[in-house]
Amino acid sequence: LNAPVITIDGPGGAGKGTISRLVAQQLGWQLLDSGAIYRVLALAAMHHQIDAADEAALQPLAAHLDVQFASDEAGNTLVILEGENVSHSIRTQEVAEMASKIASLPTVREALLRRQRAFAEQPGLVADGRDMGTVVFPQAEVKIFLTATAQERANRRFLELKQKGFDVNIGDLLSEIQARDDRDTNRATAPLKPAADAYMLDSTGKTIEQVLQEVLQVVQGKL
Ligand code: C5P
Repeated sequence: LNAPVITIDGPGGAGKGTISRLVAQQLGWQLLDSGAIYRVLALAAMHHQIDAADEAALQPLAAHLDVQFASDEAGNTLVILEGENVSHSIRTQEVAEMASKIASLPTVREALLRRQRAFAEQPGLVADGRDMGTVVFPQAEVKIFLTATAQERANRRFLELKQKGFDVNIGDLLSEIQARDDRDTNRATAPLKPAADAYMLDSTGKTIEQVLQEVLQVVQGKL
């Protein structure tokens, strides 16, 4: 690796995205949202009307995926697919579902490995996803496994969506979260599981600030 790496893995909705962004900001390091790559691939597949099980068509799509990350003036990360800003359109439940199906295909995951490893640049990288500490960056200096109960993750998602004006049912959110957990945990290739040397952090009942401080403490102890 060209630079030190901190990996933050865990199930969807545990707060990995927020915490990773804050840790990267605090340290002045690069950030890799690996889930966004799977989501962009899912969106590209939907555009091309490729089925989630069509591995023969998805592998070349993954290998040649034209995805870029950029920053707007406010410092928000923009996700660009073939020149188009897809930052918002990759966040739908439909895309998440498709991403999680596609992510179970070994040749697709393989095709995305090198691209993800290229993010490890000086002065360092914070990488968030499902298999950052186990498969993509097994030599990472610091590994965090961030969890929260499914109920807590559904509650957080409910509040977030309600704030944005969406009318959602918490029971539906909970079953979607459980279905995605199930698929991510039980797939044969790079399943969601903590690395043997990961620090386990349960964020249930904790504020973002508390979780951030706990992560920074672990980082300070290891770097
Ligand atoms: O983290 P996010 O919800 O954006 O990820 C979307 C989907 O992409 C996950 O449900 C998971 O199936 C897949 N993914 C993965 N490996 C990663 C990151 C995401 O399989 N490193």
